[in-house]
Amino acid sequence: MKRCILQEPGLIIVEDDAPDPRPGPGDIVLEVRAALTCGTDLKAWRRGHPRMPCPTPFGHEFAGRVVQVGAAVEGFALDDELMSANTGPCNNCRYCQRGQQNLCESLMDEMILGAYSQYLLITERVLRSNVYRRPDHLPFEHAALLEPLSTVCHGMSGVPLRDRDESATVLLLGAGPIALLWLVALKRAGAGRVVVAGRRPFRLEVASRLGADAVLGEDDDLEASLAQLTGGRGADLVVECTGSIEVWEQAPQLAARGGSVVLFGGCPAGSRVSLDSYRLHYDGVAIASPFHFCPADVEVAAGLLGDPSANWSPFITSTASLDELPAVFENLGAGQQVKCAVLPHGPGSS
Ligand SMILES: [Zn+2]
Ligand SMILES: [Zn+2]
Repeated sequence: MKRCILQEPGLIIVEDDAPDPRPGPGDIVLEVRAALTCGTDLKAWRRGHPRMPCPTPFGHEFAGRVVQVGAAVEGFALDDELMSANTGPCNNCRYCQRGQQNLCESLMDEMILGAYSQYLLITERVLRSNVYRRPDHLPFEHAALLEPLSTVCHGMSGVPLRDRDESATVLLLGAGPIALLWLVALKRAGAGRVVVAGRRPFRLEVASRLGADAVLGEDDDLEASLAQLTGGRGADLVVECTGSIEVWEQAPQLAARGGSVVLFGGCPAGSRVSLDSYRLHYDGVAIASPFHFCPADVEVAAGLLGDPSANWSPFITSTASLDELPAVFENLGAGQQVKCAVLPHGPGSS
């Protein structure tokens, strides 16, 4: 089969004769109908990633059709069309037993990588917790949003969002794919006013199309604009979606007294940040930094994707073949994309 390997940072190799995956008794093999580019992949391409030592199969957001089924698999059959997360919990370790499956000790040992391939092995562990049928109305490239949307649903599960609080203001720092998924999830949860602050005009324009109540660009004075929008209070919820140390440090300064901050973008290993203790203590600004997802979050995400009234089209800003993947990553950093849908079996296949 054909697949893409991240040989080293900056170098993607397209292999034409990689071995076809073979399912064990509890596994299945998917024909990948769509795989999506993502910020994590871009980080790995730029500087390497501790969770993906090179050379590594590449890509972890996908949806597809079942083409092989292990002898012991129950509940899934040939030709099923599925959307899947990229990990599954062990259900045995201390964290799993405390309901913190996002911290499972062996979560990353069986992480599925290699979505930029024609075929992909889905292991028993992922299959039993985090795989859903593709809703009929949902194209494969939208179904492949399940994994990043699950991380957002996990982040949202921890914030005290008052239901349908029209007077609340949420500030999203960053306008990349993850911030835009937060925007959609927040709006659907009834968050009052959502403000998106980003650098790339193209992505801010997408944010507006997805329902942002205000967008702030590089030329806007963020603090002053936010103060104006909130009567000087600041945002009730600030969600940092950039993974930059400066933005982590800035986030609590933009929150209202008694507000919450979610530091959502992972920074490079070894990063240290410095936060204003007055804001945290005397102003009661709560800080959380949630990572990854639990099966319950994947279920919520699958439910959102199953809602036919949601519009995911603005997330997919281009399509490409596996052969085009090296060029896709060369251009991804320019900020003219949200996500590129890689279609390993050609256009029209999804
Ligand atoms: Zn991702
Ligand atoms: Zn575990």
